[in-house]
Amino acid sequence: MEKITSLAKRRGFVFQSSEIYGGQNGAWDYGPLGIELKNRIAGAWWKEMTRLHDNIAGLDAAILMHPRVWEASGHVENFTDPLVDCKKCKLRFRADMIPEENLAAKKCPDCGGELTDTRKFNLMFKSHIGPAEDTASVIYLRPETAQGIYVNYKNIIQSNRMKIPFGIAQIGKAFRNEIVTKNFIFRTCEFEQMEMQYFVKPGADEEWFNEWRKQRWAYYEKLGVKMDHLRWHQHGKDELAHYAKDAYDIEYLFPMGWRELEGVHNRTDYDLRRHAQFSGKDMQYIDQDAGNERYIPYIIETSAGLTRNVLMILCDAYDEEQVAEKSASSEGGADDWRTVLRFHPDLAPVTAAILPLMKKDGLAEMAQDIRNELQDDYSTDYDQSGAIGRRYRRQDEAGTPFCITVDYQSKDDNTVTLRFRDSMEQVRVPRSELAARLKQEIKGYKRIK
Ligand code: ATP
Repeated sequence: MEKITSLAKRRGFVFQSSEIYGGQNGAWDYGPLGIELKNRIAGAWWKEMTRLHDNIAGLDAAILMHPRVWEASGHVENFTDPLVDCKKCKLRFRADMIPEENLAAKKCPDCGGELTDTRKFNLMFKSHIGPAEDTASVIYLRPETAQGIYVNYKNIIQSNRMKIPFGIAQIGKAFRNEIVTKNFIFRTCEFEQMEMQYFVKPGADEEWFNEWRKQRWAYYEKLGVKMDHLRWHQHGKDELAHYAKDAYDIEYLFPMGWRELEGVHNRTDYDLRRHAQFSGKDMQYIDQDAGNERYIPYIIETSAGLTRNVLMILCDAYDEEQVAEKSASSEGGADDWRTVLRFHPDLAPVTAAILPLMKKDGLAEMAQDIRNELQDDYSTDYDQSGAIGRRYRRQDEAGTPFCITVDYQSKDDNTVTLRFRDSMEQVRVPRSELAARLKQEIKGYKRIK
């Protein structure tokens, strides 16, 4: 993880928030490559959920919601973590994350000092809206995006004439006052979620729950993620959230071990029933195709962390490779190692880098022209400084799948070198065919390592 964190900083993927002031715990800033990567991951999810499903509509609800929402959802009462402090070293732990014997003996797992009693700690950030800081002005930063979907479910049925089963998808910020934030961007206080809530007829919920488990698994396969680094974890009775009938996490094998990446939950009719109760509004669905049958739908939720997906994709793509056997090419000396991020080309922050072999003799101008031709369709980079081998290494580290090199032959016959990140192979391609060739390579991409 240290290597990934330092690469992320060095290459401008992720910086510590407020670094010049010593950093802000639980918050991170996404740099030029990071925001491109994050946007692409979000884009892939959005396409999967909305464009590829006729019956899933998008939404962008506000972060600030009426405080009653969080009473109805159960978050004010139940969204707590058990907290213990060490009286000696002052470290703070989530009681469910330290060994049971330490908890029983009230012994700090770090220094052996005495632990306090366990107390409940609500994870919601609380603030005040308006100038008066009284109880009437209390407002929360949403701890999940889901509630914005539930309170809009009738609006979307009406505006989009949705019929059950249907879904609502949303990507947005969520905030949790996490007791322990560590492992880089894995668990943070400010993060982003990609959630899809699927509304189904009671009784059909188990079937849809299984269907969404299947679809979410297939999605990661499509992204080219190492499938032996993914597994399912079913929540035991003691793990189930207050609203859940059944829940499975997709876990990824991060450098610190298996951890949750996404949850698929059967939330039953809990949320809509509670909103009906707290708002006094009718939350029933009227099934016009079944003689106006009325019911409160069950909800199957797929809830993924966007920022956690960024970390997963970075870990999954990270590779170090000895390239000595390839040193006959222009790629470096005997003990040459490279760090390479093997992003799927659909996710890579830069799709193609255009590199003139020399700045002079019109090569730079030709390379710039090629860049201009490509940049409307592809995210490109232009780099003319340093030895070509070193420039390839820089692009490997940024995860750029294709490099296009303009050399003297290019001037003679209008061809360029297309170099592939993963295999480091190089082929000669007519300039006029470049855009089509890139399209074909991206569509047919298969990860080789
Ligand atoms: P945990 O038990 O690890 O605190 P959770 O089970 O409460 O997490 P969910 O409420 O199911 O998490 O959230 C859905 C998804 O949102 C998670 O799978 C994760 O990807 C993401 N997520 C949740 N909390 C955080 C966080 N603090 N930082 C980053 N991502 C998060």
